[in-house]
Amino acid sequence: MSKQTLSFQAEVAQLLHLVTHSLYSNKEIFLRELVSNASDACDKLRFEAINDGGLYENDPELKVRVTFDKDAKTLTITDNGIGMSAQEAIDHLGTIAKSGTKDFVSKLSGDQKADSNLIGQFGVGFYSGFIVADKITVESRRAGMKETEGVRWVSGGSGDFEVETITRPARGTSVILHLREDALDYTQSWKVKGIIAKYSDHISLPIQMEKEEWKDGQLINPSDENGGRQPGAMVKTGEWETVNKANAIWARAKKDVTQEQYDDFYKQISHDFEAPLAHTHNRVEGSTEYTQLLYIPGKAPMDLYNREKSAGVKLYVKRVFIMDDAEALLPTYLRFVKGVVDSADLPLNVSRELLQESRDVKAIREGCTKRVLGMLEDLAKHDQLPAAATERAAKSSDGVTDVLSAEDKAEAEKNAGKYSKFYAEFGAVLKEGLGEDFGNKERLAKLLRFASSTTDTVSVSFADYKARMKEGQEAIYYITADTLAAAKNSPQLEVFKKKGIEVLLMTDRVDEWALNYLHDFDGTPLQSVAKGAVDLGKLQDEAEKKAAEEAAEAFKPLLAKLKEALKDKAEDVRVTTRLVDSPACLVVQDHGMSTQLARMLKQAGQAAPDVKPVLEVNAEHPLVKKLDGSVHFHDLAHILFDQALLAEGGLPADPAAYVKRVNALLA
Ligand code: ADP
Repeated sequence: MSKQTLSFQAEVAQLLHLVTHSLYSNKEIFLRELVSNASDACDKLRFEAINDGGLYENDPELKVRVTFDKDAKTLTITDNGIGMSAQEAIDHLGTIAKSGTKDFVSKLSGDQKADSNLIGQFGVGFYSGFIVADKITVESRRAGMKETEGVRWVSGGSGDFEVETITRPARGTSVILHLREDALDYTQSWKVKGIIAKYSDHISLPIQMEKEEWKDGQLINPSDENGGRQPGAMVKTGEWETVNKANAIWARAKKDVTQEQYDDFYKQISHDFEAPLAHTHNRVEGSTEYTQLLYIPGKAPMDLYNREKSAGVKLYVKRVFIMDDAEALLPTYLRFVKGVVDSADLPLNVSRELLQESRDVKAIREGCTKRVLGMLEDLAKHDQLPAAATERAAKSSDGVTDVLSAEDKAEAEKNAGKYSKFYAEFGAVLKEGLGEDFGNKERLAKLLRFASSTTDTVSVSFADYKARMKEGQEAIYYITADTLAAAKNSPQLEVFKKKGIEVLLMTDRVDEWALNYLHDFDGTPLQSVAKGAVDLGKLQDEAEKKAAEEAAEAFKPLLAKLKEALKDKAEDVRVTTRLVDSPACLVVQDHGMSTQLARMLKQAGQAAPDVKPVLEVNAEHPLVKKLDGSVHFHDLAHILFDQALLAEGGLPADPAAYVKRVNALLA
């Protein structure tokens, strides 16, 4: 193939522009990304070579070499991994294949600051080279192909790139960065070494650099331009040294890994700039052996709600990388977890299909789920500062002795608020677990948090609620609505407010669905205040009960008329005690789908049963009292119904008719 010039896919051009313009403050990540690509390429070779040993071409020692040339102002990352054919270079370096990254690019706003925050959540990968280089040359040959089938790819990082066929005896890839003037630092060996140590210690391959030595004023290489005679200059010795620890972080003992190394590894695998909220690292022994290193991120990715999205756990078998995003290792509702599982038992050639059926994988999945839930429980436990810590702060000025050691206090402060942060980002996803993971339903229920009619922040657990229940209260009351305001001001809450009974406010889309799977908490039933007849049980005194019964009796004839007038809209009409200030509200039958969920399904274009709600009226309300004998009875009845619908965020089936009726009355 002779030299040809091709254009980047539009998204690549966009991404490149962003990379070169907004990642200045994080320049050094380019090395992390390129070394990681080189290491992936070696992993891929090792994997393909399981079935075809010839691919090693008598060079089985996989490694990455980083070299620089001060005169040419280049930094080169070379690997002897799988390499690329010419077509692969065109496909992989000219387009973005990964849908996540594509999505990401399509969401860019053009606002540099906002965009560069976003980019932290994605791997910019190969293109990050352009942060420090104004030209990149890639030379490569795929393992198993002929020497004459090498490829050279060159680009200045704007609209296009050149490719041509070259002869390249060495298998694998060299990425040659032609450094920008302001990035010449990266030809300093100490600097490059430092970055490799920071990001790449866990990479299980050796990353090598040429050893340098001080040669004060000695003649080293007379053919060099300066004769190698610069006093004090560092010169290359021709020997290679391995500059990373080259052992996988998860394979080390916990005590040999620092918090910083854990955090850096997380950043490497997640492409997140921020440290994770928590991690868990364990070697599990027993009928199946594996090591897990799992992290909880601090921020949700943009595609969190996409249940098709792959999980973030990488699978290794005996230190050999097998696959990214092994979704079989964790249930879908834990798809936000990032990390690594390294199994000692699975075969190296395991496929995704096999994973789904493997008993070892099932055990790993259960083990990982337990660990993640354990991590969350731990965060939840430490979410609030212990009383001792706050007490101390309040009293210390009076000379009261510390109730908490300074160390414990610092630890408590470090962990405080983490669970709230987690919950704000991932709480809604966690709830999916109620329907997905029956075995852990109880544990999950304990981890849930809600706002309530007495607490604005999403911080009330079922246990908190239970501890505050009124004497004689037999159920945990909750309401689902589209927004917090709609929930809080819902007419259905009136009698609960009057009696000072707390009601949990649920406003996540998933709530209604998830609560289908949770009927009680720790023996106390959950009761929607918008379903079924209101039954306050022992919370209602005898006098109230009697009054309600009498009202219902006296109202019978009127109810019959209302029922007749509204027979197309309402399943039933009845008198209620749940209302105080409002004339009417809508409820559904005990096991019916709530009107809110039905509305949501319809909005999402899904089939929803036509739920006919029950209209409940407040016999004490002046408007309701006025109904009897009114000449406008029919219009008033419809207005009553439509307003009840409006009050819960719905729309009358025929809004124009509603407006007409109201106007007629106003006039
Ligand atoms: P990612 O690595 O996240 O897929 P990149 O933009 O970094 O995205 O790289 C795109 C693709 O280019 C890789 O998936 C891989 O197929 C190919 N590639 C990049 N670097 C190398 C390399 N050193 N050796 C072989 N292939 C590579």
